[in-house]
Amino acid sequence: MADKMTPEQRHRCMSHIKGKDTKPELMVRRWLWRQGYRYRVNVKSLPGRPDIVLPRYSTVIFVNGCFWHAHENCNKYRMPQSNHDFWAAKFKRNKERDERNYKLLHNQGWYVLVVWECQLEKSTRRATLISLSRRLSQIYLDTHKVNLVTPYPNDDDSHHMPLAAEP
Ligand SMILES: [Zn+2]
Repeated sequence: MADKMTPEQRHRCMSHIKGKDTKPELMVRRWLWRQGYRYRVNVKSLPGRPDIVLPRYSTVIFVNGCFWHAHENCNKYRMPQSNHDFWAAKFKRNKERDERNYKLLHNQGWYVLVVWECQLEKSTRRATLISLSRRLSQIYLDTHKVNLVTPYPNDDDSHHMPLAAEP
């Protein structure tokens, strides 16, 4: 394809083409694994072949490259200068395909989480990963209703406790 890309964009294309174990995805996988989450990867039978599938959490995770998935308002995604129409059409198709897949997954009862490549840059990586764990915990609690019983009377009564001797 005779198109002018910046070296950075070209690099990103190449690392996309190289395939499944792109670095951002590995970061997320390693994090989840260390946190004790168990998952499957690149499940072909699901729409869009999600990068990470956590069956016990009814959750699929896509780790999206900002360029190919046309992350809006993101400095990693810039429309290439030449062949504008070609790229515009391509990005539009990519986005529509993503949204179609998310909807299909949602309809099948999956929670769909998207982690953007730019959210895994050094400055925000930790916060992104922590919020991912947190979101998974929320999902788990929402889908496994657990009622913890407090072994003492209603908390609200505590402020009715007599105060220590007032004169
Ligand atoms: Zn981005």
